[in-house]
Amino acid sequence: MPDKTKQIGAYDREFVWHPFTQMKQYEEKEPVVIVGGEGAYLFDSEGRRYIDGVSSLWVNIHGHKVPEIDNAIKEQVDALGHSTLLGVTNAPAALLAKELVDICPPGLKKVFYSGDGASAVEAGLKMAFQYWRRKGRPGKTKFLSLDNGYHGDTLGAVSVGGIDLFHGEFKPLLFDTLRAPSYYCYRCPLGKDYPSCGVACADELGKILQSRGDEIAAVIMEPYVQAAGGMIVAPEGYLARVRKYCDECDVLLILDEVATGFGRTGRMFACEHEDVTPDILVLGKGMTGGYLPLSATITTGEIYDAFLGEYEEFKTFYHGHSYAGNPIACAAARGNLDAFRNNDTLQALKEKVACFEEELKEFEGLPHVGNVRSKGLMAGIELVVDKGSKEPYEPEAAIGWKVAEHAMEDEVLLRPLGSVVVLMPPLGIPMDDLKKLVRVTYESIRRATEGEPDHGRP
Ligand SMILES: *Cc1c(COP(=O)(O)O)cnc(C)c1O
Repeated sequence: MPDKTKQIGAYDREFVWHPFTQMKQYEEKEPVVIVGGEGAYLFDSEGRRYIDGVSSLWVNIHGHKVPEIDNAIKEQVDALGHSTLLGVTNAPAALLAKELVDICPPGLKKVFYSGDGASAVEAGLKMAFQYWRRKGRPGKTKFLSLDNGYHGDTLGAVSVGGIDLFHGEFKPLLFDTLRAPSYYCYRCPLGKDYPSCGVACADELGKILQSRGDEIAAVIMEPYVQAAGGMIVAPEGYLARVRKYCDECDVLLILDEVATGFGRTGRMFACEHEDVTPDILVLGKGMTGGYLPLSATITTGEIYDAFLGEYEEFKTFYHGHSYAGNPIACAAARGNLDAFRNNDTLQALKEKVACFEEELKEFEGLPHVGNVRSKGLMAGIELVVDKGSKEPYEPEAAIGWKVAEHAMEDEVLLRPLGSVVVLMPPLGIPMDDLKKLVRVTYESIRRATEGEPDHGRP
């Protein structure tokens, strides 16, 4: 190992506190230092190249080193690094807003920029809350969210989050929210089976809205895929029915597409699968193609207009972040959209998704695969101790991690969610690499759950 790499590793272990990482374990190992990337691959300082199997934690879209994004950033750096969006504007922020509104579901008209997904969620929550005050209905202060939902790690976002492992300990700091069941078919919280259930989980949510709609400002959820909750895929018809209940009960719908946005589910936005327009759409992660932090809270003219007034009426949306609308990040986001057009990404995705779905079926034959679910290029493979009883692995078994370790030996980078193995490759991944990713994952699951292959057999 070259000295320079050794030193980076040493500095990392001495000075960096990594997110969502048990540092005691992390410190015991030589860190993997990523030094480069190209297409669907990442390179480490040891000369190994890995398939980026989870898109660098769900942000990368076309791959690494995308000419459109690289050039957009370089050009913008020569013009301007940053200037505020408080009271003035910049070209990339304005041009990107127009492009986003053009591709968003009809009815969404105004783009509010932030930096990370969680901050865009916070902005959405505050917008919804204040909207009702502006409309003379100050009693509508509550949010309805889903079990297993995830909206980021700031306290407002955690308040509407539903993952106990991440969020439970913070309870004393959070505001109260109403909870509807998760659309988790494999372990249906209502004890029913799809499709005979008639998508009853949506009706459960509807009942809460019908009885308490007067107190509820908005429903917030991830459309179609509860990503961090375990890549849980909603049954068809769920989302459209939620929209209908929200309309009937005069409750806003906030769709958090931080994970699902930008083609990940096969359409530009997941809500398009059911022709649903939310009142507030939250975007992040893939927005810059995985290059820079940038997020957006996009809303309707109806909500925007409620905040208009004379200065002394104090109807202003008093919320913002220092780097909102950063020109370099916005330029990267425009490069991302250019790459979508130049590569015909959404069209090319159809064949990849079909192949991905076909290959994923094989996993069902593995004795410890309880459930395989996917939407577009987002997939979750839930491992169980026993298929019949669906007995889950104990967290202590760290079964997802074992799979990821085997995959790493075969130069595939994965990051599981508990006992759910996650596949979420960049949309730009070539077909051969997609197949390799799936094959390595299959073999890694087999090794982690059944032991090493018997080399004596053909
Ligand atoms: C990742 C994620 C967030 C949080 O985004 P950050 O950029 O990590 O703050 C919010 N919502 C969903 C659905 C996400 O997957």
